[in-house]
This record gives sequence, C-alpha cells and structure tokens, in this order.
Amino acid sequence: MKILLVDDSRTIRNIQKNTLASMGHTDILEAADGLLALEVLSKETPDLILVDWNMPNMDGITLVKKIRETDKRIPIMMRTTEAEKSRVIEAIKAGVNNYVVKPFTAETLSEKIDQTLAKVGAAG
Ligand SMILES: [Mg+2]
Repeated sequence: MKILLVDDSRTIRNIQKNTLASMGHTDILEAADGLLALEVLSKETPDLILVDWNMPNMDGITLVKKIRETDKRIPIMMRTTEAEKSRVIEAIKAGVNNYVVKPFTAETLSEKIDQTLAKVGAAG
C-alpha cells in the first residue's frame, strides 16, 4: 500500500515514516505542503493520504478541497491538534474520511488507518 505523507515538519514526517514502517508500510511518498502534495499527486496514485492541517503555502484543508475536485475516492486522513479538533466537521465536509488527533501512538494510527480503509471499502 502506497501512502502519501503531507507535513511541513521533516522531523514529524520521519517519525511517522518510522511508525508506518513498524506497521509494515514502507512505500511512502512525502510532501512538505499542499502545493508539493498536488505535484506528487499529478504523478503518483497513493492508496491513502495522511494530511497535516497547518502547513505553509497550502494548508491541509485547502489541499483536501483541491483533491476532492477531481478525486472523490482516495482515502484521506487529517492529522489535527487538540485545538483543531473543533474544526473536524469542516474537514469532513471538505472530504476527509477520518482524522487522528496528535499526539497519537502507533497503535492508534494503525487502528485509524484500518478504520479509514474499511470505511471507504478499500480494506484487504
Ligand atoms: Mg504542520
């Protein structure tokens, strides 16, 4: 399974890559903001996108809206802080399939990923 990780922090991307690797996911694409993510998406088709909310150039919610203009199906998970939790409805309206509140454990992330794929019928 190919996963696109979108986060402006290289450190966070590396931590999450390690977490995903521990779950057996090693086919990871990365982008540092929404604009760069769209660039990646013009060439690649990941099975899941993990998006951070706050990023420079293009934030997570704008990225989700852009993706949904052309792709209704690709599973998208938003990573939010506790403070952004109240905006989850907005994210879901924009087309996010699921969200995970930071900080989270590898176990929580794994559960949320399974849940997301099951929801969109892409599991297994
Ligand atoms: Mg950020």
